[in-house]
Amino acid sequence: MFEKRRPSAVLFDRDGTLIRDVPYNGDPDRVEPMPGALEALGRLRMAEVPVAVVTNQSGVAKGLLSPDDMDQVNARVEELLGPFDAWAICVHDDADGCTCRKPAPGLVIRAAAVLDVSPRDCVVVGDIGRDMEAARAAGARGILVPTGVTLPEEIEEASEVADDLSDVVDRVLSDAEGPMAAVSAPWARAMGWSRW
Ligand SMILES: [Mg+2]
Repeated sequence: MFEKRRPSAVLFDRDGTLIRDVPYNGDPDRVEPMPGALEALGRLRMAEVPVAVVTNQSGVAKGLLSPDDMDQVNARVEELLGPFDAWAICVHDDADGCTCRKPAPGLVIRAAAVLDVSPRDCVVVGDIGRDMEAARAAGARGILVPTGVTLPEEIEEASEVADDLSDVVDRVLSDAEGPMAAVSAPWARAMGWSRW
């Protein structure tokens, strides 16, 4: 369904995907990366694929988390996992009827806009169906990395399922191995090659 080529950006869900899911966490000391997260991000950064976070934080709307607490947690995420090229955060709850809270596509569209790329050229990585629905609604490629909270039907409905974050990066970067990727390499551009 999707053309196999390197994406313009990879947009990660935060809780349960990049870091362990601690519901409504406002404590930076409780931030713990998921296994392989740092390595996976490092490989994408080395390949010069922008990385971003697209995260629902309804704890703010519920009053369980202050915006400042959330900022501190996000700062800790960057301390542990390195800088992200964009953050798109929804602080609403379902009842707010916003257009950003996943499964709506708003966060994916916003992150893509910040990165100046098309949502259709982005990969969205998440652990639940809401992430995959947001990807689909934005026209992006969704890759599900199931955890203990992922429902069987969410796995069944996902268009693509990876074993872990390392598998995600294998898929994303292996898709780049083709003539299109070769001519977009810096040496190819230096030689004046263009796509054929
Ligand atoms: Mg999640």
